Amino acid sequence: MTALELNDINVRYPGGGGLFDISLTAQTGEFICLVGPSGSGKTTLLRTIAGFLRPVSGGMRINGSEVVSDSAFLGPDKRGLGMVFQDHAVWPHMSVGENVAYPLRVSGLKGPEVRDRVAQTLTQVGLAGMADRRPDSLSGGQRQRVAIARAIIAKPNVVLFDEALSSLDEPLRADLRGQLKALTEELSLTAVYVTHDRSEALALADRIAVLNAGRIIQYSDPQRVLNAPQDPFVAQFMSDAGLFPVTLAGGDGGGERSGGDRAVALENGSRVTGFTRMHAEVDPILAVGEGDARVCSAGEGHVDGTVESVLFDRAGWLVQVSVGDQALTVLTAGDRPRVGDTVGVRFTGGTLFSHENPR
Ligand code: ADP
Ligand code: MG
Repeated sequence: MTALELNDINVRYPGGGGLFDISLTAQTGEFICLVGPSGSGKTTLLRTIAGFLRPVSGGMRINGSEVVSDSAFLGPDKRGLGMVFQDHAVWPHMSVGENVAYPLRVSGLKGPEVRDRVAQTLTQVGLAGMADRRPDSLSGGQRQRVAIARAIIAKPNVVLFDEALSSLDEPLRADLRGQLKALTEELSLTAVYVTHDRSEALALADRIAVLNAGRIIQYSDPQRVLNAPQDPFVAQFMSDAGLFPVTLAGGDGGGERSGGDRAVALENGSRVTGFTRMHAEVDPILAVGEGDARVCSAGEGHVDGTVESVLFDRAGWLVQVSVGDQALTVLTAGDRPRVGDTVGVRFTGGTLFSHENPR
């Protein structure tokens, strides 16, 4: 069943920004992440789903019921949603139990049933027996668990999370992330989860919507977002890809999704093969992500660049190399490159885009 359906939603802020032609669906039980740089419209989209912002056009359904249309607009309290925000989510003047019970009280429920459901929900979020505690006696992680309990207790159609774990420190954050994912699966909750953290989105999501400037640039599963980016922006945002203008060179043996025996030439004349070809061939750009290149000696790769930073990673060194006005990150095994060194970068793959991708 479709839990959430947005059709061509447009939202306008006074300054002209907002959301542009947003279409998005989530199936019941699906975990959707909204990612994108700061200011890309993630919070705006979440607030629109919640009903705090009224679109200028477009439609929205929640569990099949129309909540936004040309003629109808349902407010936040009528949409059957749960919400968790980054901060200030828990009311300090109420006990943990009173916080969590609040949505049930609002819907008119009283008596032992409320107590039982509060106890059950607190157990589900790992806070068994804490109903009488004051929020100020809890850790940050426990307070976010209270907020999660309050968001799910009324069995919402969809739970909305806005940077819900972003203020927590590791390893607590990863811990709670894992438990949240398990909980949503166990309860078949539909989740829309905003994060600016790419790794978090990759870890949690069934599907990821990548936003830029108020538009959804790509909406697909994490594997495809990483391995088949729709657009140079997605490659750059998700994989720190460097973007290199190229010209087409060589024969055409490849299919639509394969570079085949095709080659492209970089501006310095060196030829690259082995890339995936995505779209038409206007102003082609080669996006080179961290798995698409290796570091070699200066002069021996396709391009030379300067080492800007070197970070240790489980799989090797994550080396950030600047090449002209581009930066790319290359995963490298072996010796640690030194910051400031000139190195070569050999392209072993990548994705070829048209710069003016039709969307
Ligand atoms: P994100 O959550 O991805 O960081 P936001 O949804 O908060 O992005 O903001 C998207 C864009 O809309 C930004 O350019 C922001 O400045 C603008 N914006 C957000 N809220 C308002 C507002 N109330 N009035 C006008 N512009 C806004
Ligand atoms: Mg935001």
